[in-house]
Amino acid sequence: MNKTFDTIVFGGGISGLVAAFSQQKQGKTVLLLEGSNRFGGVIRTVTKEGYRLEQGPNSILTNVELHNLIKELGIEDKIRKNEAIASTRYLLFKNTPLKMKPSWALLTSGFMKFGMAWAFLTERFKKKGTLEEESIAGFIRRRLNGDILNRMINPLVTGVYAGDPEKLSLRSTFKKLYAMEQDYGSLVKAMFNRDKNAHKREAMSFEGGLATLTNTLAEKLGDNALLNSSVTAIESIKKGFEITYNQEGIETVVKSKEVVSTLAPATLSSISEMIDKTLRQELEAIEYAPMLLVYLGYPKASIGQTLNGFGYLIPQQEKQPYLGGIWTSTIFPEVAPEGMELFTLFVGGVNNKGVISSIEESIEKAKLAFEKHMQISSNPTFQSHYLHARAIPQFNLGYYKLMEKVDAIENQHKGLKISGNWRSGVAIGDCVAGNINE
Ligand SMILES: Cc1cc2nc3c(=O)[nH]c(=O)nc-3n(C[C@H](O)[C@H](O)[C@H](O)COP(=O)(O)OP(=O)(O)OC[C@H]3O[C@@H](n4cnc5c(N)ncnc54)[C@H](O)[C@@H]3O)c2cc1C
Repeated sequence: MNKTFDTIVFGGGISGLVAAFSQQKQGKTVLLLEGSNRFGGVIRTVTKEGYRLEQGPNSILTNVELHNLIKELGIEDKIRKNEAIASTRYLLFKNTPLKMKPSWALLTSGFMKFGMAWAFLTERFKKKGTLEEESIAGFIRRRLNGDILNRMINPLVTGVYAGDPEKLSLRSTFKKLYAMEQDYGSLVKAMFNRDKNAHKREAMSFEGGLATLTNTLAEKLGDNALLNSSVTAIESIKKGFEITYNQEGIETVVKSKEVVSTLAPATLSSISEMIDKTLRQELEAIEYAPMLLVYLGYPKASIGQTLNGFGYLIPQQEKQPYLGGIWTSTIFPEVAPEGMELFTLFVGGVNNKGVISSIEESIEKAKLAFEKHMQISSNPTFQSHYLHARAIPQFNLGYYKLMEKVDAIENQHKGLKISGNWRSGVAIGDCVAGNINE
């Protein structure tokens, strides 16, 4: 094997696969090192008893970069989507999933208070904020109001980040919202001025599930991507880097001009002398939300709730033992056997870290609450779960300052790129956009 490469990529999740594919496309010699025995990282599709389960992300919201990548990989014909269903979202309100589309049911539900409508109407007249950094909660209370925060934004934040809006930094987490105020002075004004020709974001998956995307990328990399190859050290040397990896007990040293690391912050810190002790401690302290995914299958006939949407999120003030539920087989019917419906529940988050040590109890509580909310009259005929003890990195207050220190490491070591979802943003689309190197 050639022991010197143009680029060596650490990690074979979506970030690393895209980084390596992008470099390979440019004619560079590339080596991707993945520590586990499979590619995909947290993207993980499995089949059990005729149900197809996503044991990580469920669907992708496309952006331009992802759209182009799908085209380039030649898997456009494998796209599976149902726009009308995927764009119909619900929130749980007083134990009932409530459709978030202007309707009589929404108006008369008591969900929309007069103050909420007034806050939207008057938002454009509010002064631009002057704080250098603000929590998502602080920002929404300032520009809109507390009810909008609690009823609409809180479930969104827990649904995507499993996080706490009081702790999450607006500028690091919701970059677009932050920019809307900076550029237009108002969210409402920014909405009216948005580019009508911009790429339309759609929720989708693929024939065979999300693993089709990562498996196709891995196939394109062929022998340039190695499994069971854990990076154990990286050292900065003259004109590049020296990397040690362990493949099934055998240590190998390779060199490269460039390195793209997509490892988690604590893992990268533990293998690199380029990161000093203080920064290492700060990176190790980045908070991660745990997430327990619970899969339930029921006969269609036993479900009382009408299934015509993506599923629902749950505001914290509803005090429920889970964060939300996706009506998985409504969006992608092929994931469940004939006559059955598959649901995925999300349990955990930063405010429920106890889930890690009480899996069975957490599942039981979530299941009972879910059956009540969905008016389900029978027990599930299929049940499964998957725990991510460290699912989603939290971009809490102070995160952008920490990221400036990581930028400084990159600047000190030419050719080093520190990537992964904790750098690019957690959505798959962000991981793709952050690792395409045109
Ligand atoms: C439960 C859950 C649900 C989600 N839902 C969605 C969703 O619906 N839509 C969406 O857009 N996003 C979702 N996300 C977020 C998104 O899936 C992730 O942010 C993204 O997949 C992370 O990709 P990554 O490549 O940066 O990291 P990872 O997937 O974590 O990849 C890192 C890779 O590095 C490898 N590795 C670790 N140590 C070493 C080492 N020493 N040497 C070599 N390799 C090593 C790991 O084995 C792993 O394969 C979800 C995430 C989770 C956990």
